Amino acid sequence: MTFATLGLIEPLLRALETLGYQTPTPVQAQAIPAVLAGRDLMAAAQTGTGKTAGFAVPLLQLLTIEGPKVAANSARALILCPTRELAEQVHASVAEYAQHLPLTTYAVYGGVSINPQMMKLRKGVDILVATPGRLIDLFRQNALKLNQLQTLVLDEADRMLDLGFSEELANIYRMLPKKRQTLLFSATFSDDIRLLAGQMLNDPLSIEVSPRNVAANTVKQWVVPVDKKRKPELFVHLMRKGRWKQVLVFAKTRNGVDALVDKLQGLGVNADGIHGDKPQATRQRALDRFKSSDVQILVATDVAARGLDIEDLPLVVNFDLPIVAEDYIHRIGRTGRAGNTGEAISLVCADEVNMLSAIEMLTRQTLTRKTEPEFEPEHRVPETDASGQVVKKPKKPKKPKASGGGGKRNLGKWVDSGDVAPSEPSIKPVRKVPVFNTGPRKKK
Ligand code: AMP
Repeated sequence: MTFATLGLIEPLLRALETLGYQTPTPVQAQAIPAVLAGRDLMAAAQTGTGKTAGFAVPLLQLLTIEGPKVAANSARALILCPTRELAEQVHASVAEYAQHLPLTTYAVYGGVSINPQMMKLRKGVDILVATPGRLIDLFRQNALKLNQLQTLVLDEADRMLDLGFSEELANIYRMLPKKRQTLLFSATFSDDIRLLAGQMLNDPLSIEVSPRNVAANTVKQWVVPVDKKRKPELFVHLMRKGRWKQVLVFAKTRNGVDALVDKLQGLGVNADGIHGDKPQATRQRALDRFKSSDVQILVATDVAARGLDIEDLPLVVNFDLPIVAEDYIHRIGRTGRAGNTGEAISLVCADEVNMLSAIEMLTRQTLTRKTEPEFEPEHRVPETDASGQVVKKPKKPKKPKASGGGGKRNLGKWVDSGDVAPSEPSIKPVRKVPVFNTGPRKKK
């Protein structure tokens, strides 16, 4: 199959050729004809599968061949993304696909001044990429009207809910024209997302190009059990031993990111960090420097986990496991992209056993464990497997005491959920699901 057989117009074919896209990826092969036919879409695709082109390319075609010229302070298509970084990246891709088309594109997000964005919107843009909060600000300040909107794309929809954007999504939903095309993309599909899709989509076509919730099989994954306090030391040891060149590292908290970056920089390693406390310009600069290999190790919270496309990233390290199991798939999806192979190493301490178990259950695999000599944990990480069970294996039984025959039998101590640090959040936080006006929508 070629892009031409999918019915794409010449300026798009030319742009794809320049980018070196020869054949459509599976998600593109399914999504492009469906979007061109005007269908609503609910698409589950692994990260790095080419989903951006899957929605953006047919959308550009529809906007080129049909519909009116964009009015002042309006947008004809809106792509909602969970993070500023993803908005920038999606916009960059859309602009590349649109390079031979007479369409305007723009990205808006928070953390930067709103005034230039308001000015830019005055003339209207054909495709607007936005994070939910800033979109609402612009709408409320009358810088943007949505009555001309033809198509809404929700990219990384589950991430938007995870990040607490459910209310913003409900608000945006109320601002939209009833007659529109809606495309919902997500790497993973939780029940909340299915509910959201039920409310937002109109007779959607479901596309699932990979088994549900399975990590890319081009990524070699394993776990190194270690005591929590020795993680930084182990990281440095593995980095030196493996001569790591370009590594994306995920830590659970902002403080965790800063502490690891400080340690690495103190050792003379070229490291930088990104998390939500840092200004947008600093985050973007760190990311750009990492992409251009000026920074060797980029440490990030999950803000950076989704959607960032870094060419040929060879290695992702989970310094901490993610609290939400699905984030594991997104994190390791930063490597092994577009057919390349990659590695994902997780440093796991006893406190994280329930998270490990949840990840194994979600990805339907038991992750290989490789204990590093000299770093064997004192606090054993209990055995886990894809069934979601933490295997309760007692330590060596102590000899029964001779006296007091009716006394307690010592079954040994094992770590189970009751032994996990009390401050540890549960595996999956309860998310608020927006309540939408589910009134009838006109068919297109
Ligand atoms: P995405 O999943 O949209 O983030 O895309 C992942 C990577 O695959 C990006 O670097 C795209 O430029 C690339 N890509 C997307 N579609 C194709 C294709 N049909 N052929 C080759 N590379 C592609």
